[in-house]
Amino acid sequence: MKPLPKEFKVLQIEEKWQKRWEEMGIYRFDWKDRKRSTYVIDTPPPYPSGDFHMGNVLNWTYFDIVARYKRMRGFNVLFPQGWDCHGLPTEVETEKEHNIKKREVPPDHFVKLCEQLTSKYIDVMKDSIKRLAISVDWTTEYKTMNPDFWRRTQLSFILLHKKDLIYQGTYPINWCPRCETAIADAEVEHETKQGTLHYIKFKLEDGDHLTIATTRPELLPACVTVAVNPHDERYKQHIGKTIAVPTANRKVKIITDDLVDPTFGTGVVMICTYGDKADVKCTKQHKLPVIMAINEKGEMNKNAGKYAGLTIQQAKEAIVEDLKKQGLIEKTEPLQQEIGVCWRCDTPIEILEQKQWFMKTRMLTPLVEKNALEITWYPDYMKKRLIDWAKSLDWDWVISRQRIFATPIPIWYCKKCEHIILAEPDWVPIDPRTEPPKIDKCPKCGSTNFKPETDVLDTWFDSSISCAVHAGWPDKKDWQRLFPADLHPSGYDIIRTWAYYLMVRHLALFNQKPYKGCLINGMVLGTDGRMMHKSLGNYVAAPEVLDKYGADAARQWSATGGATGSDIPFRWPDVEYAWRFLIKLWNATRFASLHLQDYTPTKKEVKLELIDRWLLSKLNRVTQKTTEALDTCQFNIAMEEVRNFTWHQLCDSYIEAIKHRLYKPETYGEEKRKAAQHTLYTAIYRTSQLLAPVSPHITEEIYQLMYAEDKKPKSIHISPWPTPQKIDEEAEKYGDLLVAVIGEIRREKSEKRLPLNTFIKKLTIYAGSNKSAHILKQAIGDIAGTCKTEKIQILPKKGEGREVQGYTNVRYTANY
Ligand SMILES: [Zn+2]
Ligand SMILES: [Zn+2]
Repeated sequence: MKPLPKEFKVLQIEEKWQKRWEEMGIYRFDWKDRKRSTYVIDTPPPYPSGDFHMGNVLNWTYFDIVARYKRMRGFNVLFPQGWDCHGLPTEVETEKEHNIKKREVPPDHFVKLCEQLTSKYIDVMKDSIKRLAISVDWTTEYKTMNPDFWRRTQLSFILLHKKDLIYQGTYPINWCPRCETAIADAEVEHETKQGTLHYIKFKLEDGDHLTIATTRPELLPACVTVAVNPHDERYKQHIGKTIAVPTANRKVKIITDDLVDPTFGTGVVMICTYGDKADVKCTKQHKLPVIMAINEKGEMNKNAGKYAGLTIQQAKEAIVEDLKKQGLIEKTEPLQQEIGVCWRCDTPIEILEQKQWFMKTRMLTPLVEKNALEITWYPDYMKKRLIDWAKSLDWDWVISRQRIFATPIPIWYCKKCEHIILAEPDWVPIDPRTEPPKIDKCPKCGSTNFKPETDVLDTWFDSSISCAVHAGWPDKKDWQRLFPADLHPSGYDIIRTWAYYLMVRHLALFNQKPYKGCLINGMVLGTDGRMMHKSLGNYVAAPEVLDKYGADAARQWSATGGATGSDIPFRWPDVEYAWRFLIKLWNATRFASLHLQDYTPTKKEVKLELIDRWLLSKLNRVTQKTTEALDTCQFNIAMEEVRNFTWHQLCDSYIEAIKHRLYKPETYGEEKRKAAQHTLYTAIYRTSQLLAPVSPHITEEIYQLMYAEDKKPKSIHISPWPTPQKIDEEAEKYGDLLVAVIGEIRREKSEKRLPLNTFIKKLTIYAGSNKSAHILKQAIGDIAGTCKTEKIQILPKKGEGREVQGYTNVRYTANY
């Protein structure tokens, strides 16, 4: 056993172990092992943005704690790591970096540039992940942009297509005019913005008019009907008549629809192609014509007549101007309205009707709900988010995107007869944009001319098969052995995407849920309690924290910040507290290591003092509580238990109460010294083990210096998790009294500003009962040694003097 060095050089220790762990290979999943039970974590492949913020620190720490804990529990842990590479932000950034437009360079060239950027960011993030000591098995690393992953994504497309769960069709979809791509409901965010409600006069045939209220006058060219509520008495006489759409030179019918809110504006609304989802519903229900007036770039098209070519905003201004000139604007008023914006660029989304590829997700909603209810959620209430989201979906999942850096859709079309040619499973990976289908002629018409599908797949279509991919699908014959995953971790903000898409896709493909448990983390709030954001000035970058206090303290902050699933504020004092705790542990352990130099662990029975038995029983109690907390992913509870035990019971009470035995065996006896050594040796090892999943570096350093020689495992992180032994209720009860008495005497000394080693000439303890006197007499040596008494007397009667906190009958007098 080596003594710990005086200084706890955190950054040095952390770097050393990160390297060594990788060399030791202790995080590798053993594919050949058939004995141990497996534990599979569906690590969400992050999007390589190059940024690693405190939110990442929080959620990565959560699932790394689970991985480390399960490894110590003896599981063969599969903790893989992938990268969800494809994405619009990368395309946008690549365009910016090289000052190009993606459609103006050859697609394969553009893809290369995107890959370079992605690889650069992966390296940055990988460093951060290693720096945080995330115990992933790097031999499992995969990138969704690699053809080998395309193969899996494309195969899943083919299988779903063959199952008739994928279709192509012309339907309304969410569209970002800036990004020029379809986006799914899950990618639409809702913002409240200040708009203007325009009251516009529509002329009736009899020369009179109705006034309709709209925030989007630019959609007048797309107006297909005017609607009122069927129960609105004010407009009964107009129903079924025609009315002229201003600026559009068109007459439309006045219809009734229950969806019209009579209290909004005038109670008369226009239905357009498409202002919102209500327009879509109304158009479908009443079989109204579709007149699209906005194109993919967010400009007015030829259906907008004289406004064609203008942007949406320009058209709005021009139309309002024209209406004013014609005296058709009755009034305007400001309106707070909720609008859908693109998750990536904040541009208001439009609803366009377009030919796209869809996956039939809505029909799976009952199955999603059934499986969501079968899963263990940490915390439980989060399952509602998934179920509510699935039930709220109006549309199927639009999976095609009009982008370049993504997995190609394995489809071609016959140029002559438009027949769809779907790739066969053994053709993939394949890029139809550069490769022809592997057939001689169109099976329908015999033509040999094909054109590729140039649309690509939504990024979520790549990453939503991760549970099967991690398990080895489709290459490993026995991949079902590792499927479903035991745990899927996620932030609550992406339950509607990640957790949902995983669920719906695996159910569709394999008719099985993808994960058995779902671990949810909250968001990290800024130093001021608001959402952490660079623009709010409350942003703290992860490297700033790691450079100052190291990963062990940062991880502790993650674990203790709040209940699992709740939002957690970032506060420097919390990290500092974690850091001080580590120093405390280091110093206590160093003290122990110096006094354990001549100690050899023994299996023989050791004769223990009351306070030794007290500590060991408390140790079993904390082991039990920590184990229960970790089993249910309550990291804050686990960590509080370990910290309280270490700080108060081990350091403040126990170590102080046995120092005399360690220092002076000639006075107190060799056997009592051995008992203290045995207790310290056991307690520090156990504490390090309990702390290892949260703070892996310091615990490994302690283990390697003090325990590795004696214990078999080459790392604390694969040492067997301790099984709590019997709790000694009596030792705890009696020990609590002893600790209270010693604590009270020490408190009095410090209140009197006396050094703690000040001698008490005479200490008289009035135990208040025979029982208490008997207990305290058993420990008279430790009381005398710790409190430095020259003469000590323990009497069973009640007496005068200072009361011991928590024990109203126990008092003492001390003469200095
Ligand atoms: Zn956008
Ligand atoms: Zn054909």
